[in-house]
Amino acid sequence: MPHVVTQSCCADASCAHACPVNCIHPTPDEPDFGLSDMVYVDPSSCVDCGACVTACPVGAISAHTRLLPGELPFIELNAAYHREASGPRPLQAPVPSIPRLERAGRASVVVVGAGPAALYTAAELVKNEQVDVTVLERLDVPHGLARFGISPDHTRTRRIRGQLDRILDHPRVTLRTGVEVGRDVSLDDLRAEHHAVVLATGATLPRRLAVPGADLPQVTTAFELVTWWNGHPEAVRPVLESERAVVVGAGNVALDVARMLTASPEVLRRAELSSTARQVLAESSVRHVDVVARGTAMDAAFTTPELVGLVALEHVVVRVDGLEERPAGLTGLAEQRWNLLAQLAARPEGGERTITLRFGQTPVEVVGDGRVAGVRVRAADDTVRALPAGLVVAAIGQVAHEPVEHSAGRVLAPESGTAEPGLYCVGWLKRGGRGFIGSNRACARETTRSVLDDVNALARTVA
Ligand SMILES: Cc1cc2nc3c(=O)[nH]c(=O)nc-3n(C[C@H](O)[C@H](O)[C@H](O)COP(=O)(O)OP(=O)(O)OC[C@H]3O[C@@H](n4cnc5c(N)ncnc54)[C@H](O)[C@@H]3O)c2cc1C
Ligand code: SF4
Ligand code: SF4
Repeated sequence: MPHVVTQSCCADASCAHACPVNCIHPTPDEPDFGLSDMVYVDPSSCVDCGACVTACPVGAISAHTRLLPGELPFIELNAAYHREASGPRPLQAPVPSIPRLERAGRASVVVVGAGPAALYTAAELVKNEQVDVTVLERLDVPHGLARFGISPDHTRTRRIRGQLDRILDHPRVTLRTGVEVGRDVSLDDLRAEHHAVVLATGATLPRRLAVPGADLPQVTTAFELVTWWNGHPEAVRPVLESERAVVVGAGNVALDVARMLTASPEVLRRAELSSTARQVLAESSVRHVDVVARGTAMDAAFTTPELVGLVALEHVVVRVDGLEERPAGLTGLAEQRWNLLAQLAARPEGGERTITLRFGQTPVEVVGDGRVAGVRVRAADDTVRALPAGLVVAAIGQVAHEPVEHSAGRVLAPESGTAEPGLYCVGWLKRGGRGFIGSNRACARETTRSVLDDVNALARTVA
C-alpha cells in the first residue's frame, strides 16, 4: 500500500533523495520542480519502506492507512500527478553536486539574514570543509518568515524550523542576531573582510491596495496581520471589531488569513500562538470573510493542497461563488482541483462562521466615512456591487525593500549590469516573493555554486 504526500509539504525534496526506488517527483532536476504545488508519490512503484517519512522535516508523508479523513483526497492527488507524468526515470534521484574549493586555506562567507534561504545557503556552503559561514540577522531570533509567516494553525509545516536549527548547530556556522546590515555594520566593510557576502534579506514590503478609500484605518495587509499573530516584534496589534472582513487576493496567504480570522476557539487552542494573540483572536468579532479574486477559480494562485485543507474544515462553512464553466478536457491534477471547487460551489449559503471565495471580482473602492463600511467590486460584465466589511486585508504579495538584479545569484551593478565582485543574493530577494520554503533550497544551491566558482576563479588568477 502506498505512502502519500499531504498538505504540509513545502517542496524541499528531502524525501526524493531518501526514496530507494525514485518514486517521489518532481525531483529538483526535473522541469516542473519549483512550479509544482508539492511533490507526489507514485503509488504504482512505492514499496512502502517508510524512508521518506523519516526524511521529511514537516511530517507531510503518511502511509495511506494512517491518513485523517480530511487528507484522503491526497491519495488521488498523488496518483493523478503520476498518471500525467511521462518518460523513463533514473533508478535514483540525482544528488546535486557542489564545486570543491581548489585552493588550500579557508574561505569566509557572510550571509545577511537568517531566513530559510540564508540557512539553506549556509548548509550548502559548509559542505565544503574549508568554508566558514557567519549569518547576520537584524532581529533577535532566526528563521525569517518560517517563524513569522507560516500560519499558526499549520503546526506541521512550522516544524521546518527544526531543520533550520540543525543547520545553525553546525560548528562552522555562526549566527549573530540583532545585527542589521546597513545600520550596525556596512555592506562595504563586510565585502572588504570576507571572500563573499550573500544577501538573503527577503521580500518583506507588502503591496498595498491602490483604490480610492484604501487609506482608511481598517485597511491593512496580510503581511501585517500574519506577522502580528506570529509574534513579530515590529508588528502592530490589529483591531478586529467587525463581523465581516474582505480579503483581497487569492494566494495561499489569503487563505491563511481567512482561516485564522474565522478560527474557532478549538482551532485557536491548538494553533501555535502567543497568549496575547490567542486572546485577541478569541475575542475577535469577525465571523464572515469574503476572499475576493480578480481571475477565475482554476487560475487562482492558491494551491490545490491548500484547497483540500479548506474543504476539510469543520468549524467554518467554505463556499465558492462565481465558479466558471467547467473547462473542456480536464484530466489529472486539474480535474482534481475542479472537483474540489465544484464541491465548494454546491454548498448551501449560511453558517455561523463562513469563508466565501468570490472569483471574477475586481475591487474598485473601499467605502466608508472615516471607517471602512465595505468594498465595491466589479464583475466581468461591469456590474458593481458592495460587499459589507469593517476590515479589509490586502493579500497581494510582497516585494523587496531594495530589489536587486542578478545572474545565477551574482548581484549585478545597476549601471553597468556586470557582476559585483563577491556579492550574491538568494531566496525571495533573488526570486521575488513567491515559492515555498523548500524552493529556497534549490535556489541556495545555485547561489552557492556561483560563490564557490568565483572563489576558485579568483584563486587561479592570483596564482
Ligand atoms: C505570510 C506568509 C506565509 C507563508 N507560509 C508558507 C508556508 O506555509 N509554507 C511554505 O512553504 N512557504 C510559506 N511562505 C513562503 C516562505 O516564507 C518563503 O519562501 C521564505 O521565507 C523566503 O525565505 P527568505 O530567507 O528569502 O526570506 P525571509 O524568510 O523573509 O528571511 C529574510 C531574513 O532577513 C532578515 N533581514 C532583512 N534585512 C536584514 C538586514 N539588513 N540585516 C540583517 N538581516 C536582515 C529578516 O529579518 C529575515 O529574518 C510564506 C510566506 C509568507 C509571506
Ligand atoms: S515509502 Fe519508501 S518507496 Fe514509498 S515513497 Fe516513501 S521512500 Fe519511496
Ligand atoms: S516537505 Fe520535503 S521531505 Fe516532506 S514531503 Fe515535501 S518535499 Fe518531501
